[in-house]
Amino acid sequence: LRPRCLWQKTSSLYKRQFSYNVIQRSTAAATATEAEVHDGDKPLQGKFVALKANIATKTNVVPTTAASKTLANYHSPFHATVSSLLLQHGASLLPNANMDEFGMGSHSQFSPLLGPLTSAFSRNGKPLSPGGSSGGSALWVANELCWAAIGTDTGGSVRLPGAYCGVVGFKPSYGRISRWGVVQYANSLDTVGVLAKEVQRAREVFQCLDQEDWRDMTCMGPSLRSRIAKTSRQHDRKSLRIGIPLEYNIAELSPPVKATYTATLRALHASGHTLHPVSLPTTRLALSAYYILAPAEASSNLAKYDGIRYGHRTPTTDAAPNADPPLPLYAQTRAEAFGPEVQRRILLGAYTLSSDAMENYFLQAQRVRRLVQRDFDRVFAAGNPLLDPGSGSGEKVDVLLTPTAPTLPPTVEELEGQSPVESYMNDVFTVPASLAGLPAISVPVPLSAEQRKGMDEKDVTSVGMQLIGQFGNDKLVLDAAEMLE
Ligand code: GLN
Repeated sequence: LRPRCLWQKTSSLYKRQFSYNVIQRSTAAATATEAEVHDGDKPLQGKFVALKANIATKTNVVPTTAASKTLANYHSPFHATVSSLLLQHGASLLPNANMDEFGMGSHSQFSPLLGPLTSAFSRNGKPLSPGGSSGGSALWVANELCWAAIGTDTGGSVRLPGAYCGVVGFKPSYGRISRWGVVQYANSLDTVGVLAKEVQRAREVFQCLDQEDWRDMTCMGPSLRSRIAKTSRQHDRKSLRIGIPLEYNIAELSPPVKATYTATLRALHASGHTLHPVSLPTTRLALSAYYILAPAEASSNLAKYDGIRYGHRTPTTDAAPNADPPLPLYAQTRAEAFGPEVQRRILLGAYTLSSDAMENYFLQAQRVRRLVQRDFDRVFAAGNPLLDPGSGSGEKVDVLLTPTAPTLPPTVEELEGQSPVESYMNDVFTVPASLAGLPAISVPVPLSAEQRKGMDEKDVTSVGMQLIGQFGNDKLVLDAAEMLE
């Protein structure tokens, strides 16, 4: 893609009435980055890669906003490591892809600065959720406005929009890709991921980003990388042992998702892979633990946006005009700059970290997190290189296959009637791999003609299937994902 082609594509897509929000933002972003096209023979030469709005780019045209009013005018003085690596490998960047503010959300509806997004699909004339929080990145890919896109996945934010928009969403093992220059949501979970039309593209981008970075102490260092390389199980692509976690077969699984899951398992079996039911008993606690831990980390991370040291500040003249007693500048600034979902998470996190609640919530959730990780370690043939690399028995499973989400994407109208807790339920299949830091990918698998019968012709045409692998086994997960395409 050359910039001009991008313009032509943009206008033809606009005529076809794809998401207005995406198109509108694409114009600003493309202008900002035309100058950054590099010469030479590099793996991403001439390819446009969209960046979620929480990844810093050093440009004075497009700010790095994380879709928050608090960062509306923040122009980063440096590139995130991810941005630098993409440029070094020849890519042209399209920054500021829309998202849920600071990554908090599952449907890209909580974007106070850039506005809510809808997908290109609809049901009975009602637009569907594109998934979130990397909804903008997924839409850029789905609408073919870029070659690939970067998102971040804390509890499912690359995989869920991938599933809802019908594209591939890959979350590597925690620590593979540097988080330096990525606006933090929950550090112990935040993972940079890739969205693309095909697994091979996601792999190519991942390979450019999978590098050590001394500036991010959670990015894997050389010794862990070489341990992983040594312990990664050699696998035979023709015959994988595929685990079916029993706990993911929940009552909420909708019929088209269930049917596509069953058909995918059958097809894998028919092509020589073996299927093995496995039990991950802590799965049912994972969602609650995630929604304790992620807001706790967020409340601490977001403390810096106080308007004094950092971020938007309420003009002193406007501060606390009518409050009685008057609100301090700090509180007024934060009440004004953060959207309602972010405020909810900060309150929740501040509460669970308070001395009275700490033992009951935060510490319990940390324990659950360890149990979730142990469940996974028990079923994977490969040992966990972070713990006991020799623990793999070689008799268990290579990868797990689950649906990415229990249902097809809801309409935006349905979301409006949902309580926050109902919307958190959507992440039930994605958070376990996040808590354990495991590589996971969502691959769109077409709905059968049978399943499409009676569906709106503008409705989604695929269901996201998720593959999860042992920590460090990113290559195996990508290889297995290619078999689903
Ligand atoms: N939906 C989850 C949340 O709101 C996950 C978000 C993410 O992965 N960034 O926390």
